[in-house]
Amino acid sequence: MHGRYSGGIMKAKFIFITGGVVSSLGKGITAASIGLLLKSRGVKVVNQKFDPYLNIDPGTMNPYQHGEVFVTVDGGETDLDLGHYERFTDVPLHRFNNTTAGKVYLSILDRERSGGYQGNTVQVIPHVTDEIKSRILKTGEETGADVVITEVGGTVGDIESLPFIEAIRQIKYTVGKDNCIFIHLGLLPYLKECGELKTKPMQHSVKELLGFGIQPDIIMCRSEKPLTKSIREKLGLFCNVGQNAIIENLSAKSIYEVPLMLENEGLGKTLCSLLDLPNSEPDLADWKEMVRRYYHPEKEITIALVGKYVELHDAYLSVAEALTAGGIHHSARVKIDWIDSERITDLDKAEELLGKAAGIIVPGGFGDRGTAGMMVAARYARENKVPYFGICLGMQIAVIEFARNVLSLADANSSEFNQQTPHPVIDLMPDQQGVKLGGTLRLGEFRCVLAEGSKAEKAYRLHDIVERHRHRYEFNNLYRDSFEQSEMALTGRNPERNLVEIVELPAHPWFVGVQFHPEFASRPNKPHPLFRDFVGAAVEKSAKAKA
Ligand code: GLN
Repeated sequence: MHGRYSGGIMKAKFIFITGGVVSSLGKGITAASIGLLLKSRGVKVVNQKFDPYLNIDPGTMNPYQHGEVFVTVDGGETDLDLGHYERFTDVPLHRFNNTTAGKVYLSILDRERSGGYQGNTVQVIPHVTDEIKSRILKTGEETGADVVITEVGGTVGDIESLPFIEAIRQIKYTVGKDNCIFIHLGLLPYLKECGELKTKPMQHSVKELLGFGIQPDIIMCRSEKPLTKSIREKLGLFCNVGQNAIIENLSAKSIYEVPLMLENEGLGKTLCSLLDLPNSEPDLADWKEMVRRYYHPEKEITIALVGKYVELHDAYLSVAEALTAGGIHHSARVKIDWIDSERITDLDKAEELLGKAAGIIVPGGFGDRGTAGMMVAARYARENKVPYFGICLGMQIAVIEFARNVLSLADANSSEFNQQTPHPVIDLMPDQQGVKLGGTLRLGEFRCVLAEGSKAEKAYRLHDIVERHRHRYEFNNLYRDSFEQSEMALTGRNPERNLVEIVELPAHPWFVGVQFHPEFASRPNKPHPLFRDFVGAAVEKSAKAKA
């Protein structure tokens, strides 16, 4: 299974995916699908992404520009494509699986300042390219993967991605041609006027790649229409690839069907033959069953997602996927009603906007804007017994709302939103006070012990769990007694620092707030237990409403 390329040492093989013609073709889904097709043949895979921008990571970027920040188990703040990789391959990723140009330059400049280059001029070639190459090889070494699948962000020819393209060209020389392949994904536009798919832009894009010294081994064609024999022949002739290396990548009704379509196109077989891997029969039964269930739901429910970045659905990508997965489990299509929290000005407005929802979810977020509307939504769910799931900010919102309206702690708040609040029920921990903003986030996996008999324990069927975090503020333990004497139960606790991780209303059909982000651990064929049960409660509510 392993390739040998240096002194008989067993090392990984590499697949690089570049994009051409236009951006947003779904390189991430393609890379994730390749991971699944190889994994389903017993190959140990790991995916990684190169982002040519200069930010160190997307952690500080506006969700409207970048979409969701995906959090890895070790607390890396990464590109949302890593979420696709994890959902398709079920391989947990780490911060080193997302390399940005910013990270590359940061390590080079740190080394330069500490004299690491011993007086040499530091240059893009070889220093930047060497740093990128060492990261590629390290991913193979650190994970022990048979195949490392690397998606290069952006489109070939972008100025900022040049060092990445040059580095992957050089890698083929380092690891040997049987251990490295290039896949180029481009668009074949369909012209209605002549009723034809056009190959010229793809040919030009491949020419550009050839200009950088890279001959793609596989041409993958995104298109609205199936590829005809003559189109395939033209592409083969002008892009120098055999017919089995021209892969059609049609738009699918669900992203989860993409790997199955690519397998039907013979991609798995071609990959194995190009990389000299044994081509065993892929085991995709579980995945196929999940897609079948998704395409044939028995019912439909609506979940209201109340947030402040709702115009860009990618800002809540993993939450949306986790809701879909919960639905698949219950044979229910989950329709998300994206509600801008600023529109929920009072309970009447809540009734108007949320009245038809079978469940309400308030996901994570930062800053005060929109939080008043989220609190009205939480109150509406609490009082009307609508299933409620609060994630991170959504849990804090539920706590604040309860403090104000049930515990009569007037003007209770999070000190994130009002530093002068008389009741900071959500607050910084004492050891965070006075520390500058950067670096104070609680990131990555932490333990949580679940209270016996709680809804959380019932969902997980476990007593001790780990979940991924990304937040700065915490439930304020000074208010623990007031809550414990009320009908809001504190049912999850981080044992190391005695932090409240989960709150619930035991008398409510399903009202759970979690300080962590369960959405990152959910898989389409293995929904997260809390999403599964939240959707389950919503399905039940919707059935009752119809009865
Ligand atoms: N803004 C809140 C905090 O920093 C919640 C963060 C989140 O929802 N990810 O604690």
